[in-house]
Amino acid sequence: MKSPLTEENKIYPDTISKIKSLRKKEISAEDLAQGIFDGNKAMLAKAITLLESTKPAHFDKANTVIEKCLARPNKSIRLGITGVPGVGKSSFIETLGKTLTDQGNKVAVLAVDPTSSLSKGSILGDKTRMETLAKDPNAFIRPSPSGTSLGGVARKTRESIILCEAAGYNVIMVETVGVGQSEIAVHSMVDFFLLLKLSGAGDELQGIKRGIMEMADAIAINKADGSNLERAKLAVTEFSRALHLYPPKANGWVPKVMKCSAMENTGITEIWEMVQQFVAHNKKNGFFEKNRKLQNKNWFLQTVDEYIKQFFHQKETFKKEQAALLTAIEEHKISPFYAAKILLDKITKEL
Ligand code: GDP
Repeated sequence: MKSPLTEENKIYPDTISKIKSLRKKEISAEDLAQGIFDGNKAMLAKAITLLESTKPAHFDKANTVIEKCLARPNKSIRLGITGVPGVGKSSFIETLGKTLTDQGNKVAVLAVDPTSSLSKGSILGDKTRMETLAKDPNAFIRPSPSGTSLGGVARKTRESIILCEAAGYNVIMVETVGVGQSEIAVHSMVDFFLLLKLSGAGDELQGIKRGIMEMADAIAINKADGSNLERAKLAVTEFSRALHLYPPKANGWVPKVMKCSAMENTGITEIWEMVQQFVAHNKKNGFFEKNRKLQNKNWFLQTVDEYIKQFFHQKETFKKEQAALLTAIEEHKISPFYAAKILLDKITKEL
């Protein structure tokens, strides 16, 4: 005897194949961009998958979407968060993220985790993380893209920021682990760089990479709760003293050291207020916009460098083209990555 399901398939084969082809149907760049502008999370996720794709056919389409998104004005704050595994990054992001969505913000969480491409057990993605925030309609969480080079992984996250902003996310958090060069990459795509630390038993200043301390706009001593609270207070004093030894920042901001408990939700609001003070400070002295422009220019240059190395520097015609594209980027007329593609096309033609 035939099963009812088989019968159904016989009766409606056309309908079933239509549904299947609709599912497979490619969405145009215009529809993707419109979906993003409408704040449609599924469309945003699809667009990010497109830009993460290594298929050459997807490159131009992804760039069309990015360009449309670049043209949208945004008032976002990009916040980088780093710290060793176990310091409480995901707990911190969850608590801060929930606080922010409760205040009416839209929060996107992205990650740069170079370990995810090297081994199956990625540091940032192998556990159930940020469960509450993941269910929040005003939050969007995307794990780290995979890839063979940190440059590639970071570039994809950098481009995802643009798409999230166009979708109306006004707070973008980019998480990374304190295990190598990834902090430098994240630092170069955010407005504010936060280092999460734990208080130690009198050895607060050991094992901290000088470079990371220097990059931080603030240090937050997490897990300042229970029996750890006194040690956390001590760590705040010690780190503040240590930070004073570094040269002043170009923007005039004096890095702060604060304590918090992601678990008990203490000190989190204060940290966010400090981030807002930083933004106000940098907007007032013009550094905020200047820094973003500088970052855009750097990403453009880095992308070009990745592909063509020294060859580029030997030809005068390429240098002129580069100067013109830099001006266009400054005027928000073109994305740094698409500008790189234009230049590369010209070079390969002459090769
Ligand atoms: P990540 O690896 O840096 O993302 O750290 P997680 O957020 O996964 O936290 C690591 C562990 O520390 C988990 O068991 C958390 O429950 C715990 N934890 C995180 N924040 C706090 C905190 O503020 N206080 C305490 N006591 N534990 C925390």
